[in-house]
Amino acid sequence: MYYTFIMTGDLSDTSPPEGVEEWTPVPDAVDLVLECAAMESTLAAQRLIRIDAMRRELLLDAEGRGSATVEIIERSIRLELAAAMRITEYSAGRMIVHAEALVRRYPQVLDSLHAARITPKHAEVLADDLAQLMPELRGQVVDRALVLAEAEPVGTFRRALRSLLATVQAASLEERYRAALQTRRVAMERGYDGVGDLLLRAPEVALQAIFDRATAIAKTIVGGEGETRTLDQVRADVLCDLLIDGVTDAMPSAARGIRAQVVVTVPVLSLLAEEPDGTADPAVVEGVGPIPMSVAKELCGGDGLWMRVLTHPETGTVLSVGRDQYRPPAMLRRLVKWRADRCMAPGCWMPASRCEIDHQVDWQFGGETSLENNAPFCKGHHIVKHHGDWTVGQIDGSGGAVEWISPTGRRYVVQPERRVPVFRMSSAVAEDSVAPF
Ligand SMILES: [Zn+2]
Repeated sequence: MYYTFIMTGDLSDTSPPEGVEEWTPVPDAVDLVLECAAMESTLAAQRLIRIDAMRRELLLDAEGRGSATVEIIERSIRLELAAAMRITEYSAGRMIVHAEALVRRYPQVLDSLHAARITPKHAEVLADDLAQLMPELRGQVVDRALVLAEAEPVGTFRRALRSLLATVQAASLEERYRAALQTRRVAMERGYDGVGDLLLRAPEVALQAIFDRATAIAKTIVGGEGETRTLDQVRADVLCDLLIDGVTDAMPSAARGIRAQVVVTVPVLSLLAEEPDGTADPAVVEGVGPIPMSVAKELCGGDGLWMRVLTHPETGTVLSVGRDQYRPPAMLRRLVKWRADRCMAPGCWMPASRCEIDHQVDWQFGGETSLENNAPFCKGHHIVKHHGDWTVGQIDGSGGAVEWISPTGRRYVVQPERRVPVFRMSSAVAEDSVAPF
C-alpha cells in the first residue's frame, strides 16, 4: 500500500484534506526531496524540545542530590547526551545551547522550525549569532532575524543577519573595532609535504583590498600564452612575489598599476557628523560589511581608488557616486555591482566585484545596457543562466530584484543588497558625457 503526503506549511495540521482535488497535482521529484527536508526541520525542533526537557530534568535531579556544582552537573549532562547519541561532547554542548536558546528565549523561532518554514541550519545560525549580542539587544532583533530566515537561503541569511546585528550595535562598533584591531597578527601553519598556510589577521577592508588586487593581477596572467596555472595558483604566486621581492616578475604590462578598488557606502549624515555618536547607520564596505565611521572617513577623504557612494539618510537613495565616477559605462557597471553586492543567483555569496555583468535580456535580442537589464552573476551561475534552461529576469520596478524560474517551474526571487531608483539615460548621451544621476 502506498501513502502520499503532501506537505503544507504547517506540519502540526494533520487534518485530512477536504476534497480529493487537494491531493493533486502529484508531487514532482523536487517536492519529494522538500518533503524530507521539511520533516527534518520538524524533527530537529522536536529534538531541541526534548533535549531541553532532558537537561531541565537532570538539573533538578542533581540539584536535589546537592552533591556537585552547577558546572559539574552541566558537564555531566553534556557527557550523558554525547554518550547516548554517540557524538562528541562538543556537539552535544552545542545542541544543549541551541535547545535552551530556542525553547526558552526564542519560541517564535522554534515554532518556525517546527512548521518547516526555516531549516535547522537557519535556526543554528540565528541562535549562534544572537548569542554574540548583548542580552538586552536580542529581543529587538529576533523577530526581524526570523523574517530574514524565512525568506532567504542560509548564506544570504547569515550575511543579512550580520549586517542587522552590526547596525543595532553601531553605538559600540567603533569601540569593538579598536579592541579587535589589537588582535591583528601574522601566523604560519605548517602543512603537509612542504606546503603550508600563512594567516593574516588585519582589518577586513584591507584584506578585501589585498585579495582583490591579487585577483585582478592574476586575471591578467591566467589564460595567457603557455600559462597552465589556475587562478588560485597564480594568486598565491603573485602574493609570494609581492611579499618577498616587492614586485612580481610574472606581471604583464596590462597588470601594472592595478590597485584594489573598494566600494564604501556612507550614509551622508554620518559622514557630516563631527563625532560619531553611535546613532547613525554604519558605513558599509562591499563584500566586507559595516565598518567604523572613523575608518570610513579616512577612506572617503583620501585615495581616489575608493568608490564613494553617499546615500540619503532616510530613503537610502543614492545621492552621489563621486565626481570621478560619472562616466558610463564604467560607472554603470559599478552601480550595478554595488546595488547587488553579490552574485544575483539564489544563495550565492560571490562578491559582485568578482562577477560578470549579465544582460538579462540578451544584447542580441535587443536587451539594453541599463540598470534595469544588468545584474552581476558569478561565472558558474552565468553559465547556468544561459545554458541551464532557467528563465531569469529583473522584476519590473523592483529596483533590481532578479527572478529565477527553474526548469521544474519553481520561482526564486533574489533581492539586491541596495535599491537604486532607475534613471533612464537618453540615447543621445555619449559614452564620455556625464550620466544623469
Ligand atoms: Zn553565483
